[in-house]
Amino acid sequence: MAEDHRIPVGVLGATGAVGQRFAQLLADHPWFEITALAASERSAGHRYGDICQWVIPGDPPTTVRDLIVRPLTPDLPAKIVFSAVPSDVAREIEPQFAQASYLVCSNASAFRNGDDIPLLIPELNADHHTMIARQREQRGWPGLIVTSPNCTITGVAMALKPLDDAFGVRQVFMTSMQAISGAGYPGVSAMDITDNVIPYIAGEEEKFQQELAKLLGHVSGGVLTPAGLTLSAHANRVPVLDGHTVSLSVGFERHPTPEEALEVLRAYRPPEVCAGLVSSPATLIRVRTETDRPQPRRDRDATGGMAVSIGRVRPCPILDLRMTTVVHNTLRGAASGAILNAELLVAAGYAEA
Ligand code: NAP
Repeated sequence: MAEDHRIPVGVLGATGAVGQRFAQLLADHPWFEITALAASERSAGHRYGDICQWVIPGDPPTTVRDLIVRPLTPDLPAKIVFSAVPSDVAREIEPQFAQASYLVCSNASAFRNGDDIPLLIPELNADHHTMIARQREQRGWPGLIVTSPNCTITGVAMALKPLDDAFGVRQVFMTSMQAISGAGYPGVSAMDITDNVIPYIAGEEEKFQQELAKLLGHVSGGVLTPAGLTLSAHANRVPVLDGHTVSLSVGFERHPTPEEALEVLRAYRPPEVCAGLVSSPATLIRVRTETDRPQPRRDRDATGGMAVSIGRVRPCPILDLRMTTVVHNTLRGAASGAILNAELLVAAGYAEA
């Protein structure tokens, strides 16, 4: 796409931890141009560079620093909007934007489980965008909503999709070690997280089963059949800044050896459409063979924070295999993942209407 034909895009919740990632990543995007930043009444009317408490490395990009933050109303000069607002706010405003013809790429959980709302990781389930026709028919929206999954289950799904295709995933037992940035800014207090592990994240464990089954499910005629798997999870907040680690035990219909699983992981190829999407990484799954990898500090930035790193693939005495995954929660698990979804929408022609 030529630079002078870039599509105008807006960010809802632009001042938050994920919103800042959007501002940073979109500043140099070849297909998209940021034309609007929106946030709460607290921020609206102020210059972005002044009101935004910048919490990620670097400075606010010069292209957005001087933009005046707008309120979260569906009158932004944009075609696509990236939503990074709290879920209760998303539930109210995202349909207003879809009703007003915007293509909404959401990071919030509000609509992830709707049976006509795609939950997308394009390299796993690009064809799930075909649910949109039914969404528009049922809801009467000229625009649309697509969602990105929970940041923790994103890495798990990326690791399990190839294994599910080859061997059929049936049971998943997972313990997550989730980074502080996953709670947004200011998030958990230093007094709570320093020298500590918090064995509870509100609402988190419930999301994992539903979202993994949806991500690995099949869509036919616009209707989703979720994958038939059972999941048991323990969600923990740990004193890591970025990067969610998950320890997994997995049971399969056909019982692979670690070697067979590794071969399948290395051989996985995303759907063809992904080759044309600028944010889709050359290497999606990085297999680590060292005994002590993956680790969040060393592996979260793999291929620009877009890959899942997977290691410690070994037998499990209870299920079939054990393994560990690491994924960057605010990049692949949030902003970069949603930008990739928008690229898929453009490639599939939704931005043309
Ligand atoms: P955050 O740092 O708390 O930022 C929230 C943003 O929403 C800010 O721009 C804030 O604007 C705005 N906002 C907050 N309350 C509002 C209200 N009542 N009305 C209107 N706007 C309001 O949160 P975050 O971590 O960026 O998360 C944003 C969304 O992404 C959430 O739904 C979260 O679950 C999801 N998500 C986060 C991650 C992650 O790793 N952090 C990963 C995946 C998905 P002001 O600054 O003006 O208050």
